Amino acid sequence: MRMNSSQIKHFDYIFTGTGLAALMSVYKMILSEKFSDKSILILDQDSKKTNDRTWCFWEKEDSIWNPVISKKWDLALFANEDFKRDLTLKPYSYNKINGIDFYNFVFTTISKHSNIIFLNEKVTDINELETHVFVGTEENRYTCNYLFNSIYTKAFAENQAKYPVLQQHFVGWFVKTKVEVFNPDEVTFMDFSVEQKGNTRFMYVLPTSTTEALVEYTLFSEKLLSLIEYENEIQVYLEKLGINKFEITEKEQGSIPMTCYPFWKKNTKRVLNIGTAGGWTKASTGYTFKNSDKKSSELLQFLQNDWFAENAGSLNMKTFHEKSRFWFYDLLLLDILYRHNESGSAIFSSLFQKGNPQLIFKFLDEETTFLEDVKVILKCPKLPFIKALFRVIFLSNKS
Ligand SMILES: Cc1cc2nc3c(=O)[nH]c(=O)nc-3n(C[C@H](O)[C@H](O)[C@H](O)COP(=O)(O)OP(=O)(O)OC[C@H]3O[C@@H](n4cnc5c(N)ncnc54)[C@H](O)[C@@H]3O)c2cc1C
Repeated sequence: MRMNSSQIKHFDYIFTGTGLAALMSVYKMILSEKFSDKSILILDQDSKKTNDRTWCFWEKEDSIWNPVISKKWDLALFANEDFKRDLTLKPYSYNKINGIDFYNFVFTTISKHSNIIFLNEKVTDINELETHVFVGTEENRYTCNYLFNSIYTKAFAENQAKYPVLQQHFVGWFVKTKVEVFNPDEVTFMDFSVEQKGNTRFMYVLPTSTTEALVEYTLFSEKLLSLIEYENEIQVYLEKLGINKFEITEKEQGSIPMTCYPFWKKNTKRVLNIGTAGGWTKASTGYTFKNSDKKSSELLQFLQNDWFAENAGSLNMKTFHEKSRFWFYDLLLLDILYRHNESGSAIFSSLFQKGNPQLIFKFLDEETTFLEDVKVILKCPKLPFIKALFRVIFLSNKS
């Protein structure tokens, strides 16, 4: 760390927001040993000491996050009011990480590296200048060469009309039951047998033992519900499972933006938006863990490849993002769900009733070939997608 003339602390990199995307990136910087000469400041308004979220993601092989995975499932249930299908996931497994385990794991490593400083401060100002970026917090002022921002500004996506914005919103109860009711070997991925009420609504259940599970009532829709509405539905669902006596040990809730809004257009020469703020959330599902894992690796590669440009001061963060055809597929699905929010159950059911789960995961991971894309898409109801295709093409020609 060095001081400039006005005693504002200067860093090579500052991360504003120290959640998933920032911690993944910083952890990988440490592992790579290529950034040990960089001074890095990571800032967050939260101390990251609470279990504020549960992350799940599917993966084929073990990864660097293996030490913090608390549970893996090889079986997943997909259901609606008419059918149930047990999906065999192998070679994938569905993995669960408790937020607090992830934070502790990364912070323990960070604490051993004196070039990285974490400060529990609220960022109030980010201002890019010609040669550096200025960051103001409620307590201090800093500057850096490059800034990685994961503070999400809701208004960017919500104050525009071109790209539909839905939320994946949910409330979950960690329950402990008296009798053995859960199958700890099978996760309930999506259960659409709940009343749809004109939306896309489903239950998501992560059983960790025969008597313990996280039961989450989830919607993909535009407007949030009142807390009581989510909680009533969880109660009804538990009764349907034959669970009358239970204890709630913890609760979680969230609202994840689902949109194809091009967040990366906010990137500038010295400021790269990462995580949900950078469009790293998969727009059609809300899943962010896997995407952030991939994108943070790409970011490290980008910084290493452009080492000379960085040292010459000509590195441009605007060149980081690459658009893919999967962005367009997500746009079609979101267009349909936005206009016909009740159609989610039919779309996901047609995909999962007969579709190959491994191929669907590969497709959602954006790793399929074009022919494989067609195979997956053809499983969905055709008319809504054709209509959405014409609408999206028409709109993009108009603007
Ligand atoms: C309860 C919950 C469960 C989820 N489950 C899954 C899942 O199972 N699988 C999956 O793939 N995704 C899941 N997600 C979505 C996504 O993975 C997470 O939201 C993820 O944390 C996003 O990473 P991020 O780095 O973009 O944002 P965050 O992890 O939220 O990090 C942003 C950070 O910025 C900080 N911050 C905000 N404003 C300021 C400020 N002014 N100054 C300083 N700091 C600030 C916040 O405190 C936060 O630490 C879940 C989200 C939630 C909320």
